[in-house]
Amino acid sequence: MLTYDQARQSVVDEVSKKKGPRSTAAVSIWESIGYVLAQEIKAEREYPPFDRSTRDGYAVRANDAHTGATLRCAGEIKAGDNATTPLERWTCMQIMTGAGVPPGADAVVMIEHTQRKGDSVNFDRSANPGQNIVPRGSEAKRGQIVLTPGTRIGYAEVALAAQVGATEPLCAVKPRVAILSTGDEVVLVDQKPGPFQIRNSNSVSLAAQTKAAGGEPVLLGNARDRAEDLRAKIERGLREDVLVISGGVSAGKYDFVESVLKTLGAEFFFDAVAIRPGKPAVFAKCRDKFVFGLPGNPVSTMVTFELLVRPAIDLLNGADPRPLPLLRAMLNKLMKEKPGLTHFLPARIEWQGADPQVTTLEWRGSGDLAALAQSNSFLVFPADKEELPAGEFVHVLLRKDVI
Ligand code: AMP
Ligand code: MG
Repeated sequence: MLTYDQARQSVVDEVSKKKGPRSTAAVSIWESIGYVLAQEIKAEREYPPFDRSTRDGYAVRANDAHTGATLRCAGEIKAGDNATTPLERWTCMQIMTGAGVPPGADAVVMIEHTQRKGDSVNFDRSANPGQNIVPRGSEAKRGQIVLTPGTRIGYAEVALAAQVGATEPLCAVKPRVAILSTGDEVVLVDQKPGPFQIRNSNSVSLAAQTKAAGGEPVLLGNARDRAEDLRAKIERGLREDVLVISGGVSAGKYDFVESVLKTLGAEFFFDAVAIRPGKPAVFAKCRDKFVFGLPGNPVSTMVTFELLVRPAIDLLNGADPRPLPLLRAMLNKLMKEKPGLTHFLPARIEWQGADPQVTTLEWRGSGDLAALAQSNSFLVFPADKEELPAGEFVHVLLRKDVI
C-alpha cells in the first residue's frame, strides 16, 4: 500500500504528463485572484520610472551636505511634480516621499535630521551618496519579465500586474472538476431526508474545496448504489477534466465505483493509501480523464481531497503543485494510535509562546463533522509510531480555509 507521499507523487507524475490549462482567457485583474497566469507579464517602462525619494526631507548633493553645513533651499518637489530643474551646488530642495529626485542630487536627508530657518537648511549629519533614493530602473528594467506563466495570482501579483498596466492578464481557464456523490441513503441538500437518510454534504464540501484549489466545480448530483446508474453518471463526469466521486470505494457489497470504472476501461494507479481516514482512496485514468474515488465518510472525503486532488488541479492550471501546508508544532498531550497507517486527526493549533501548540479534538471518527468544524488543522500521526509523548514536535496539516 502506498504512503500518502507516494500516492501524492503518483498523482503528480500522472497529471504532470498533461500539465497545462485546457485553454486560456483574459481575466480582469479585479477578478483574477486564484487564477494561474498563462502569459509573461513585462515591465512596460523602467521601475521605478524616475529616481524616487523614499523619505520626506531634502534632496542634496551628498558632497555639500555634511554635518553642520547650511544650504539654501531652492524649491520644493511634491510627489507627482516634474523633477526636471537641476539642483545647483550649495543648494537643496525640499522633497516628499514618492517624488522624483532632481538632476544633480544624489541623496535625500530626512527632515528629522535638519533645521530650517527661512530659506536656510542646516544639516545635523552628513549625507551618503544614494541614501533614501531608489534609482530609476532598479526594481525592473523596461521589457523585463516580472511575472511568468504558471504563477498563481495572489494580492501581490495583482498589484504588480496593475503597476505595469496589465489589467486583463491571460489566465488558465480553471479545470472543470465533476463532483459525483453516491449512495442510496444520500438525498440532495435541499431535500428532507427520511429517518435513515442523510443530506449530501460531500458535494458541498467538495465544491468548496475545488473552488479553493482553483478548479471549477461541475455538480453531477448523486448516483444510486446500482451499477447502471453509477455508470451513466460516471460517463457524464468523464466529459470534464477531472471526476471526483465520493463513496462506493470500500469493500461493501454495494460499493460499485471500482468495478464500474473497470468496465469503462480505467487504468488504476492506486486503490488504497496507508492513511486513516481515507484508506480506500482510488486514483485512475479513464478515457484520458483523471478520476478520484474518495471514501464517502465526510472527513475521509475532505482529507483525501486535500492530499490527492489538489495537486492535480494545480497542474491542470499550468502551475507547479503547491506543497502541503505542514507546520511543526508541540503536542500538548500524550497520544496513542494503531501503527501502520498515517493518521490525520482533527486538531487545533494555537500560537501562544515561542512554539505553536497543537491539541487533538475528541471525535467520533470520520463521519464527525461537528468535531471537525472545531478544528483548524489535522495532526499528522506518523505510521511508524504507536505513541507520541506530550512535548513532542509533530507535523500539523493546516486547514488553510480557516487559518
Ligand atoms: P461509503 O464510502 O459509500 O461506504 O460511505 C461511507 C459513509 O459516508 C457512510 O456512512 C455514508 O452514509 C457516508 N456518506 C457517503 N456519501 C456521503 C455524502 N455524499 N454526504 C455525506 N455523507 C456521505
Ligand atoms: Mg456508499
